[in-house]
Amino acid sequence: MSHVCDAALFVCEDFRLHQRKDGRNFIANFIKGENIDCDLITRGGDIQDIVRPKSGGFKDSMLRDAEVSAKLHRVKKVYLVSHEDCGAYGGSEAFVDRETEKKQHIADMQAAAVVIEEKFSPIEVSLHYAELKNGSEDEFLMTKV
Ligand SMILES: [Zn+2]
Repeated sequence: MSHVCDAALFVCEDFRLHQRKDGRNFIANFIKGENIDCDLITRGGDIQDIVRPKSGGFKDSMLRDAEVSAKLHRVKKVYLVSHEDCGAYGGSEAFVDRETEKKQHIADMQAAAVVIEEKFSPIEVSLHYAELKNGSEDEFLMTKV
């Protein structure tokens, strides 16, 4: 049995990004907008476990999930999605300002992309940052990095 999928998407498990009780689903809407089928790899703090694992085995575990997508579903593209106010980063209050926070997430995604490209080449890696809409605690805007 074989299933082929377009892409895999790494994203934080944060409930604000996924299915909400009021019907909102930020990540589902993003995937729909990209017009792709997508494996979802969710983890608190997203790709932080690849670039800065807090415990042994976290990185291997995450890359094992990616390997399932790469080998079993033969994905050709990987999306990395990081988000503002991520609890695994200490939330927005852990940064001096929004720009510093965004730069850290982008640097982490770029470092993770290198690891993923080395391990699963040839594969396209696309980086995206979900920023909170001004004044909102749970409405995000996605920008391609
Ligand atoms: Zn998060």
